[in-house]
Amino acid sequence: MSFTLHGFAVSHGIAIGHAHLVSHGALEVHHYVLPAKHVEAEMARLTAAVAEVRNELDELKASTFTAAPAEISAFVDIHNLILADPLLVDAALELIAERRCNAEWALVQRMEMLAEQFAEIEDSYLRERGADIVQVVERVLRVLTGHPGYVPRRSSRGEDTIIVAHDLSPADTIQFKQMKIAGFVTDLGGATSHTAIVARSLNIPAVVGVHHARALIRDDELVIIDGARGVLIVDPDERILQEYRLRKSELELERSKLKRLRSAPARTLDGEEVSLQANIELPQDAVQAKEVDAAGIGLFRTEFLFLNRDTPPTEDEQFAAYGAVAEAMRGRPVTIRTLDVGADKVLRGGERQEANPALGLRAIRYCLAEPQLFLTQLRAILRASMLGRVRLLIPMLAHTHEVEQTLALVEQAKAMLRERGQPFNEAMEIGGMIEIPAAALSLGVFLRRLDFLSIGTNDLIQYTLAIDRTDESVAHLYDPLHPAVLRLVAQTISAGSRAGVDVAVCGEMAGDPVLTRLLLGMGLRQFSMHPSQVYEVKQQVLRSDAAQLRRQVARLLRLDEPARLREQLEKLNA
Ligand code: PEP
Ligand code: MG
Repeated sequence: MSFTLHGFAVSHGIAIGHAHLVSHGALEVHHYVLPAKHVEAEMARLTAAVAEVRNELDELKASTFTAAPAEISAFVDIHNLILADPLLVDAALELIAERRCNAEWALVQRMEMLAEQFAEIEDSYLRERGADIVQVVERVLRVLTGHPGYVPRRSSRGEDTIIVAHDLSPADTIQFKQMKIAGFVTDLGGATSHTAIVARSLNIPAVVGVHHARALIRDDELVIIDGARGVLIVDPDERILQEYRLRKSELELERSKLKRLRSAPARTLDGEEVSLQANIELPQDAVQAKEVDAAGIGLFRTEFLFLNRDTPPTEDEQFAAYGAVAEAMRGRPVTIRTLDVGADKVLRGGERQEANPALGLRAIRYCLAEPQLFLTQLRAILRASMLGRVRLLIPMLAHTHEVEQTLALVEQAKAMLRERGQPFNEAMEIGGMIEIPAAALSLGVFLRRLDFLSIGTNDLIQYTLAIDRTDESVAHLYDPLHPAVLRLVAQTISAGSRAGVDVAVCGEMAGDPVLTRLLLGMGLRQFSMHPSQVYEVKQQVLRSDAAQLRRQVARLLRLDEPARLREQLEKLNA
């Protein structure tokens, strides 16, 4: 019987295939008491299994390092850390010694205790890390029990395989990619769950948070995933199946056609040049940026180099990372944003109890409070400026004195390098992010003191509309089309163009093809986005007449009724 299930849409596309139910049976372990003489061997068995899993994870990281998105290596690091946590493995070893129990049972006892503690954490990101503990333990159990793990078989009917699991680890997920899994569905997971993040970055259709998928779907049953709508159709009838097959092949055709745009110059119908650049988190992401022929790196979120480690990267380490990207981009601009930690991105050991972390010691505020850490980064960026067209970008500016203090520190960093006899580009450009309404409303001082500006719409929306961008209970109020947001973005772009200062947009708005024409009509000529979004945005650019859009958008910006605004946007995109 055909039925439909709903979850969160985390990764677009359509997948049609047969369900492969991934069992959680590995966690249902038996308990038995060992003779005293076998206790030591049992402890050794657990230690060996842990070592094997560590090797597996290291191999996974090494084998997928260049091909996989940056998040994968971070996830593997998290799993390695869990494996090294004495509260898990050491405590399980103690349990074996004390109670003479089997290794599997001891490990699951520890896992359950830790998972319970995680379940009580308020922060949703941290709470979801409880699932990582279960995933790590599952890996160890697979080694202990000789269970092969998730080895999906190809369906005998020749259709693709759709994994249906309670939850999946990112490590499992990346293996699915290598096996050409069509898509996956999980009971658990929210917007920040690992599965969701990996699915999006690997472009595999997926729906998460379906709750009872594993209970309701039978093994080998035919399933359609409509990734864009977060819908799952189980045992579809022939008519629905035909419809989705058609939509799937249309989508595939569109996607492969888009690749042909790689060599097309990003130019509007009336000849306006548009620069489509890439946002990256780690140096190896530059590979993807080059694959789509991005015009440069519009945003290098350097804080990802500082997360998941106990001490910050040294000046030399940072120089190697920034220099690698500068060299890879061969003279195209590489915009390195200084450390944007705080709020949801917290350095290890730097956790503080803040009532409103998004309004706290974040980004440039944090760096100015930690001048030594900041100077180290500034020196590394300056040194990398010899290896390509490196530009420095300051996040979260609100005050003139923040710019002045930063420029003074850049001078200090330059003086140190001169003293050391280390070369750097004296004329390295310095820009600022406009992501606080206060900055967007007092642009003059920023335009006079800085070489370029980049609008961070993710935060500009958060701070303009007073909604925490990580809080799902106010997610429905996060609206890029709010008239106040549109006016701040438009004013910043036109003030930049009047002053002859380049203005880019590097927030998510820049990568949304529905908004490309709107931004073009505001006068935007520099967009920076995830590399996978470049072709779709380019397609919009190629179809647009900039002069005509300018007139239409001027009219649209005078509207303040949401319904009329959306209506005009539709007309703009028609
Ligand atoms: C933004 O705020 O739009 C931005 C690009 O920065 P981040 O998303 O890293 O805060
Ligand atoms: Mg931001």
